[in-house]
Formats: sequence, C-alpha cells, structure tokens
Amino acid sequence: MTKKIFHSIFIAALAVLLACFTLIIGVLFHYFRGVQKDQLKIELNLASVAVEMGGIDYLEKADNDACRITWVDANGVVLYDSQSNPETMENHAQREEIAEALTTGKGESTRYSTTATEETLYCAKQLSDGTVLRVSVSYASIPLLLLGMLQPVLIIFLLALILSGILANRLSKKIVHPLNSLDLDEPLENNAYDELSPLLTHIDKQQKKIAAQKKELNDRQNEFYTVIENMNEGLVLLNEKRAILSINPAATAFFNTQNAVGKDLIEVERSQEMEKMLQAAEQNGSSALKVSRNGHEYQLHANRIQSNGKQSGIVILIFDITEKVFAERNRQEFTANVSHELKTPLHSIMGSAELLENGLVKVEDVPRFIGHIRSEASRLVTLIEDIIRLSQLDEGAEPEPEEVDLFALSVDEVNALKQTAQEKNVSICVEGEHTVITGVRQLLHEIVYNLCDNAIKYNVPGGSVKVQVSSTKDGAVLSVADSGIGIPREHQDRIFERFYRVDKSHSKETGGTGLGLSIVKHAVQYMGGSIHVESAPDSGTNITITF
Ligand code: ADP
Repeated sequence: MTKKIFHSIFIAALAVLLACFTLIIGVLFHYFRGVQKDQLKIELNLASVAVEMGGIDYLEKADNDACRITWVDANGVVLYDSQSNPETMENHAQREEIAEALTTGKGESTRYSTTATEETLYCAKQLSDGTVLRVSVSYASIPLLLLGMLQPVLIIFLLALILSGILANRLSKKIVHPLNSLDLDEPLENNAYDELSPLLTHIDKQQKKIAAQKKELNDRQNEFYTVIENMNEGLVLLNEKRAILSINPAATAFFNTQNAVGKDLIEVERSQEMEKMLQAAEQNGSSALKVSRNGHEYQLHANRIQSNGKQSGIVILIFDITEKVFAERNRQEFTANVSHELKTPLHSIMGSAELLENGLVKVEDVPRFIGHIRSEASRLVTLIEDIIRLSQLDEGAEPEPEEVDLFALSVDEVNALKQTAQEKNVSICVEGEHTVITGVRQLLHEIVYNLCDNAIKYNVPGGSVKVQVSSTKDGAVLSVADSGIGIPREHQDRIFERFYRVDKSHSKETGGTGLGLSIVKHAVQYMGGSIHVESAPDSGTNITITF
C-alpha cells in the first residue's frame, strides 16, 4: 500500500513539475521575444535617424554586432547589408516586412530558417528618401533553447525528482501509518484523520453485524450440541470418507469408544454388518441394522447426506429398542398363552358335552360330567376376567387415587376369604395398625385378595396365613406370610410373569390362572410400590409390599 501511494504521489508531483516547467519556459520565451522585439524597434529608429543624417558612411562605420542591418532602395535593390555582399543579394522588394514598409512606412515579420532551428525577427522602416532600412535579429527556437539549457534543466529536473521522491515517501508513510495502526476491533476508538471516519463507521457497523451473526451461529451450535449431548438416541455424523465428524455420548457408549472424532467408523466398529449398512446407505440413500449388545437391542439407521447432488456424508442414528422388542416378544407369548389356556378348558367342556350329547355317559355319571363342565366354564370365566383385568391395567385407565386404610381393607378381604381358608383347613388372621395410604382402592383389594388367595391355595392342611399391615420409615408395608409349600429359588423371579406357574401339572387342581401375581405386580407398580419375595420350599412364603 505504501508503495502504491508513493508511486501515485511521485508521478503526480512529476507531472505537475513538468507542466510547470513547460509553462514557465513558454512564458519566459514569449516575454524575452517581446523585449527583443522592442529593442529591435528602438535600434531601427536610432539607425534610421543616423542613416538619414550620415547615409551609408554611418552604416559602414557602425558596429553592427548586435543585429543585422539591411538597406534597400525603393525598388527593393539591396544597397547595404551588414553581413553579406549587397551585390550578390537578390531583390528584397517581395520580403514581407519590406513590402509592408514600402506601402505603409513600417513593416515587420518573423521567419524560420531552413533548418527551423533559428527564428529571425525583421523590422523595417521607410526613410524620407523612399529607401527602406531593415534590422533583424535571430534567436534560437524553443526546442533549441531547451537543448541549450539541457544541463541546468537536467540538474533542476534531477533535484526536483529527488525532492518529489523524498516528499512522496514521507507523505505515503504519513498516510499509511495511521491505517496500519488502526484497531479494527474497536474502529470508533481510533484517533485517525477525519477522512477515515466514514470508513471506520462502516467497519464498525460491519463488525457489529458480524458479531451478531457469529453469536447467532454459536447459539445455534450450542443448542445443537446440547440437544445431541442429551439425546437418548446415539448420533454419529460421518464425512464423505466415513471419518467421524461428530459423535454424541449415547453413540460413544454404544460403540464403547473414546476420542473417536476424526477416526474412520470402521476402525471404531470393525464388523461386516456395519460395512454393509454404510455401503447400502451410500448406494440407496438409507439403510438399517439391528444389533444386540450388552443385553440390549439396538436399531441403527444410516442416511446419506447430499449437497449439490454429491454425497457429503452419512448420519447414523442409534435407537435402543430393547423395550419394544421385549414388549413384542411378551405380546406374542401372551397371545400364544391365552390361546392355549382358553383352548384347554374349552376342549374339556366340548369333550364332556359331546359324550353327554351322544348318550355315552352313564346316568349316574351325568351329574359328575355336568359338574366338570361347570367347573371348567367357571375356570374359563375367571381366566377371561383376569385377562380383561390385565388389559385394563395395561391401558392404565384406573380410578383416581384416594386415602385408603390398608389395615381395614385387609381385614375385609381376609373376612371374605375365611370360608375358603376353612375349607382348606388353613387359619388366616390380620395383624398390625391402621395405616392410611393414598392409592386406588380397587387395586389394593386385588393385591390383598390375590396374595391371600395364593397363600391359602399353596398352603398345607393345618397351615396358617398371617397378614400384617404396618407403617415404617420407608412407607406403609403389607406382608402376607404363609406356612405353605414355598417357592423354589429358581422360580421366585418368574412367578410375576403372565401365565407362569411353578407346578403346571397341579394347576387344574388349584384352579390358578397364572395371572394373579401379574395383576399384583402391575397394581403395585401403578401405585409406585415395590415387591419383595422371601420363600423356601416346605417352609412357606412371605411376600412384602412397600407403598
Ligand atoms: P395362579 O393363578 O396360578 O396362582 P399366580 O400368578 O397367582 O397364578 O401365581 C403364580 C405361581 O406362583 C403359582 O402358580 C404358584 O406356583 C406360585 N405361587 C404364588 N404364590 C405362592 C405362594 N404363596 N406359595 C407358593 N407358591 C406360590
């Protein structure tokens, strides 16, 4: 920049210098010519007076070094010339100044020499005898004059050149220095010259605009990172060479990697399935892959990113679909179980009914067969009721919670089951204190009923069932303890599964559906409680629920 300014100033100064120089030379040349012309006229007047008085004698004696004197008669014949022999000179009547003097008494003209290097000024005057006296002086033309002045001109020019150079250098530095020391972060704080004010104001405006845009970009980037950092789904962004551009914590955990940014995805996950998924995404635009890892099921979706018709990368989303897979598996198992459980009593009912219909049952056996049909039908009803209840619980549309005295509710339930307990020769009692909790009464009934029913069902003759309600620092506690057959260790975790029964062969006798404890588990979960099972074969079971 300094160089450019220097050149501009230097060239401008040089141009001005040259113009001034030419102008001054022209003016001076013009001025000196005027002075010379005036002198020539004075000379002519003096010479004409002298010639009038002394004739040719004066001319021959006179010192005519300063100018040339020519004297011609009225016909133009040269009588005298201070520089040439008059006899060899041609007639001068047609010379412009002489012709003019012969007609008007005075004449003057300027002529260039043949080489145009000299210019001659002629002044003529008619004397009283009709003759004409002419004086002339030659001087160099402007180019010749300049040529003659070449040395001083060159010196002046050189000096001017040096001066222009120094000045241009100083000026350019003076202009550029404030520009170089500008603080562009705070444009309005600069103490530069006034001409820079509009530029600085403009820069300040631009700076503010850029800062606002930068802030917006940063905010958006932060927002993006906050979202992907907190996403449960894994997210990986790959560039067109499959190098990782961005990976969120969920994806980092999935790939069990660290500092993966910049690495090739295949380095992080060396598997053929992954390679195939990426290839399919690159070719078809999208692809998916299911992966089982650490007891979880994942679904990976890879999508090609395109910009301007070219592939610019791949985005991979990783979803944990464990719950979905288990729910689907449970649904399938449940459907299969329901069909099986419904089919068994129905086949039994149909078999008995067919025998009766075809008269194949002895008269004395008819009541037994009818009793069998009734008990199977009632089992079916219980089963269907339990299935309906479970599906209602799955939908989660339960009545509003209310304050319920768990102790009073347990007493009611135990009283209702006393008859059944007696029939099985099992004693049942309730202990504890009034404990009020906030819960859904219907669900609490079902919990207490199912637990007590099981405790009676899976008991031994002469056994006992003890229901206890208490209030502890952890919350209200309901426990149902029996002295029954107990549950082997390996079954304890599974008894809450739908249709799970420890002893399938005796389920017909006990009349269980395998859904009672599933309903209990669901109900307890609905009210935010927890279940604990303590049991040992032949020594009884104690199921504790904390609300
Ligand atoms: P069911 O209708 O068969 O009783 P549940 O879901 O209520 O179904 O119980 C599942 C299984 O858990 C029962 O079939 C039984 O084998 C076992 N079980 C439940 N409660 C007890 C208990 N108090 N003592 C022993 N076994 C029990």
